[in-house]
Formats: sequence, structure tokens, C-alpha cells
Amino acid sequence: MTELSGPNPSNSTGLPTVEDYLAISALQHYAYCPRQFALIHIEQAWAENRFTAEGQVLHQRVDSHETEQRGKVRYERSVSLMSHELGLIGKMDLIEIETGSPTRYFPVEYKRGKPKIEEWDKIQLCAQAFCIEEMRETTVPDGAIWYWEVRRRESVVINEQLRNLTRDVIEDARYLLKNGLTPAPLATKSRCRACSLKDICQPDTFRSDKTTQYVAEIGE
Ligand code: SF4
Repeated sequence: MTELSGPNPSNSTGLPTVEDYLAISALQHYAYCPRQFALIHIEQAWAENRFTAEGQVLHQRVDSHETEQRGKVRYERSVSLMSHELGLIGKMDLIEIETGSPTRYFPVEYKRGKPKIEEWDKIQLCAQAFCIEEMRETTVPDGAIWYWEVRRRESVVINEQLRNLTRDVIEDARYLLKNGLTPAPLATKSRCRACSLKDICQPDTFRSDKTTQYVAEIGE
């Protein structure tokens, strides 16, 4: 695995402990559905469906660990990342490093599907940008997501709005993790159709079960 050189991962006062580090890929789970995040990362549930299996095949292809130089740009694949400030750990599919003054770091994430209106994929890319910024003491103003289904690369501006959204997701996901909380299913059912955890989650059963609501009400 290629690694960007960065600060020493040992902990010191004020920094997260190793157990506090969140996987960057988990942020996308949280953004998609907090319950999905909790089932995978707290309850350790996992189930394959066509979408997750295709995603794994794609990443096996991408995870070549090859480094390539084309002109001023070096392409590094499967790069390890870490942010001590935000307590993040993970890997990015590709980083393009363009020699210049200053050097430009451009993260690229590969996704199985197609571009989405929602910010799930962008949040993951933004978290990668946070790590690069901390490890290289630089600024990453943009990156890209390559979508397999449409064979197209979408540019992503890492603006303040996306940064704030990503910080919120990191904070909220960590809160669930630290407190071992699994939220109720999403109110909207549309995301459940593509969710690999639908059988484990049983969203319809939980939605129709009034026990939780009853217990909350008698506790008031
Ligand atoms: S089935 Fe629906 S509510 Fe349950 S984890 Fe998946 S997306 Fe979330």
C-alpha cells in the first residue's frame, strides 16, 4: 500500500485514541443512512448485494498500487490516509500529484454507480482532502469522482459548504459510535431498496412497531 508521509500516528493529549479513528468509507454509510452506519460499524453486520459486490470488483481493479509518472503528474493508487485532528483513517483510490509551486494534490475516488444529487460520495472525497491537507500541510481545493456505470469523471469543488457538511457527519457518526447507538430506520423508504442490509435491518417491521414510541411516551 502506498503511503503519503505524514505526522506520527502516536497519540498525545487532545488527539483521538486509535479506537476513536473513524474509517473514511464509514462516512459515506452514515450520510446514506445513519442506521446503516450503525449496523455495519457498531453491530458489525454486513451483507452483500449486487451493488456491494460490483463495488468490490471495481476496487479490486483500482487497487493496483501502481505508481505512474506522466509529464509533471505522478499517479499514486491505493494511498493510505490519516487525520489526527479529525480522527480519520482510510485509503483513497488515486491521487494525482502535480509538480509545481505549490505542488497540487488531486484526490480521485472510484464509484460503481452514477453521479448522485445527494452528497454521500462527495463527503468521502472531502474527508480524503482533509487528510491530505493535514498530512502534506497543503490545501486541496478540488478532486473528482469517477463513476463506473456512466464511465465519467465528475469534478468536485471542496468548498466551505461541503467541508462543513463533512465535519458534521464526522461528529455525528462518532457520537453514535462512542455511545453504541443504532438509530431507527429512515422515514423515507426509497434508499432501503438498494440497501444491502435491508434483510438485517427490517425497516418495515421497525416502522410498524409502535413499541419504541410507546416506551418513549410513558417515559415522558
Ligand atoms: S434498510 Fe433502509 S433504514 Fe435500514 S439500514 Fe438500509 S437504508 Fe437504512
